[in-house]
Amino acid sequence: MGNQAEASVWWSSAQHPTFTPGDLYRNWDVLIVGGGFSGMWTAHHLLNSSPDLEIAILEAHEVGSGASGRNGGWASALYPVDDETLAKHVSAQSISDLHAQLEKSIDEIGQFALSSEDSVAFVKSGSLTVARSKPQLERIKQGLLPRESILNKEETLARIRMSCAIGASFNPDCATINPTQLVVALAKSLAQRGVHIFENTSADISKTGKVKVDGKSIDARFVVRATEAYHERNREQIPIYSLMIATEPLPDEFWAKYGLDGRETFHENRHLVTYAQRTSDNRIAMGGRGAPYKWGSARSNKSEQHKQIHKKLRKTAIQWFPELKNHKFTHAWGGAVAIKRDWAPYLHWDGHFGSFGGYVGDGVTLSYLAANSMADLILGKNSVRASLPYVGWKSAKWEPEPLRWLGVNLGIKLSAIADVEERITKRPSFVGKLIEKLF
Ligand SMILES: Cc1cc2nc3c(=O)[nH]c(=O)nc-3n(C[C@H](O)[C@H](O)[C@H](O)COP(=O)(O)OP(=O)(O)OC[C@H]3O[C@@H](n4cnc5c(N)ncnc54)[C@H](O)[C@@H]3O)c2cc1C
Repeated sequence: MGNQAEASVWWSSAQHPTFTPGDLYRNWDVLIVGGGFSGMWTAHHLLNSSPDLEIAILEAHEVGSGASGRNGGWASALYPVDDETLAKHVSAQSISDLHAQLEKSIDEIGQFALSSEDSVAFVKSGSLTVARSKPQLERIKQGLLPRESILNKEETLARIRMSCAIGASFNPDCATINPTQLVVALAKSLAQRGVHIFENTSADISKTGKVKVDGKSIDARFVVRATEAYHERNREQIPIYSLMIATEPLPDEFWAKYGLDGRETFHENRHLVTYAQRTSDNRIAMGGRGAPYKWGSARSNKSEQHKQIHKKLRKTAIQWFPELKNHKFTHAWGGAVAIKRDWAPYLHWDGHFGSFGGYVGDGVTLSYLAANSMADLILGKNSVRASLPYVGWKSAKWEPEPLRWLGVNLGIKLSAIADVEERITKRPSFVGKLIEKLF
């Protein structure tokens, strides 16, 4: 499939490092398959405690060429499962530990970014959820998280002058980053610390963690599978495509008109997910879902270059900031996020073999934290991180086809319909309520 991250605005301006990893077929302390944030942060955390470990990372393409190098650049403290649902499975203490650890992880990513010689463009900006209609504002108020605050219209417009904005919520626990630059900084730091990074090296991993490359086995004391949505197809998780666009760098007059001086990440509170940021070189990079799910959980380049969805994203961006009709959209790309049947992230560890993922679209910070948990488990540390809710979490399998295809695509279509219904009727969407009941 090649490196599909190359189409992204981040990748096109990054200097990708080269690695000289040496001989692959030897005995490793830790063998990590997947060179995204999950795999690389695992090596980072391991070395922080045990600098002498011999670690290899095997990456099918280039490090960061999965979702890590081409995402929306929100390092948030969001978790895909709400507290009410978590409380049915884990203790209140475990839930509060999870939130505290996610918040702390953003700051630790920031410390790493600021200590790096590469510009990761990290800013602890916070995040805005903007309402452009009364039903959207009502939903913001109903779903307000403990550390979020409501902004009235005036306060909203002081930060972001999105057209038709009538209010927003502000979440302080989010940073804006350039994801490819973070990948590059992390990979370079790992190589300097002695991690052996093998790019263009696709591995076969068995269910028990036996690894082969080109048919030859590789031995390791511990094996980690960090392939997330780019894993082989099965009923454990589905890949859902999130698509992105970016504008050319926008002039000072544009920003004087529309705000975002703090580079807050932002989105409109629609049913169908959207997300955006003002980049460090003054573009708007914006993403959203809506691309259809492919039969049998197939991944394809076509899904990443879905012309209709990219067009819809550009239309939405212009609705938000009408001045954009006078500017060029220079990039259009996409990538897959992994979703379990109950939308819950997981980490499985059996003493020799570990795997993790299912972060939905919240994997930038979550992969840092899950990797920290993975490192603690490998090192046998009895830490808070080693028992967070996702550790040992079990989800049901997705339905066999055609039910899976029908159900998932129905959900995507209904979300889009709910947004149109709300825009026309200016009342809370009936379809939106139906989605909540159905899914
Ligand atoms: C368009 C888009 C926007 C997103 N926006 C955000 C956002 O703003 N904020 C947020 O928190 N999250 C976001 N996400 C999600 C986030 O990017 C991911 O959850 C996170 O990057 C996952 O990191 P990972 O290392 O687990 O997986 P990946 O980065 O996908 O890495 C997995 C790697 O494994 C490699 N691999 C797979 N199979 C093999 C094999 N057999 N052998 C060797 N290598 C293999 C792949 O090539 C890949 O590089 C977004 C995702 C997408 C696609």
